[in-house]
Amino acid sequence: LASLDAHPQRSVVDISGVKIGGGHLGMIAGPCSVEEPERMDRIAEATRAAGANLFRGGAYKPRTSPYAFQGLGVEGLKILRDAGQKHGMPVVTEVTDPRNVEIVSEYADMLQVGARNMQNFVLLTEVGKSSRPVLLKRGMSATIQDLLMSAEYILSQGNSNVVLCERGVKGFDSCTRNLFDVAAVPVLAGLTHLPVIVDPSHATGRPDLIPACALAGLAAGADGVHIEVHDQPEVAKSDGPQALLPEQYADVAERMRKMAELL
Ligand code: PEP
Ligand code: MN
Repeated sequence: LASLDAHPQRSVVDISGVKIGGGHLGMIAGPCSVEEPERMDRIAEATRAAGANLFRGGAYKPRTSPYAFQGLGVEGLKILRDAGQKHGMPVVTEVTDPRNVEIVSEYADMLQVGARNMQNFVLLTEVGKSSRPVLLKRGMSATIQDLLMSAEYILSQGNSNVVLCERGVKGFDSCTRNLFDVAAVPVLAGLTHLPVIVDPSHATGRPDLIPACALAGLAAGADGVHIEVHDQPEVAKSDGPQALLPEQYADVAERMRKMAELL
């Protein structure tokens, strides 16, 4: 179902009115974790003004340590939805547990399946039964074929609205958090009709590298870019060190628009 051979028409995924694919650029921005309402409001306002069209934030966080901040749960879903609604952006948030697909679907416009859960087949099956579009992130050690088979789990349940995301794979060099596989974008475009976006935030883990990798992703044919933004990265609940400040996001968003016009 994911294959381009079988479906030569490229898919456009509609997220509560915001389209990704077929020339429509998905500009997803927001903090790693949903935090207090006032902060979410400020970040939503700033990213929207910069040109973002989808607002993100995690209410259920898949953390390496069980002692790290795990997310605000349902309270976080409400805060995210309210900030998105106030500033005219549909919201994207991660679901980590098949038992939460229903509640997350009530508040979120798009369900994210994160890298760590890319092969959680029970979760994939469950989001496949949801009517919400899905952002499926590539696992850190997953091949492109693995990613496509995971998409197939969702599509085969009847949910045809899947966007794929290259977010870096495990590398050997600690200069970057992961290894940004920019070639995955055109490789995927040759194999599947599904839209593909890039996430230079998790791919590099470094704010100074995000602009170059965002533009490289678009040059490679990506249908959108996912970037983490925080107004006080030093106190962020998660992934602070890789967050862009709102003004830095505005700068890269402007350059992304120019790049998109050239293509
Ligand atoms: C995230 O989007 O905050 C996240 C946890 O991403 P990934 O699953 O790609 O690590
Ligand atoms: Mn993150």
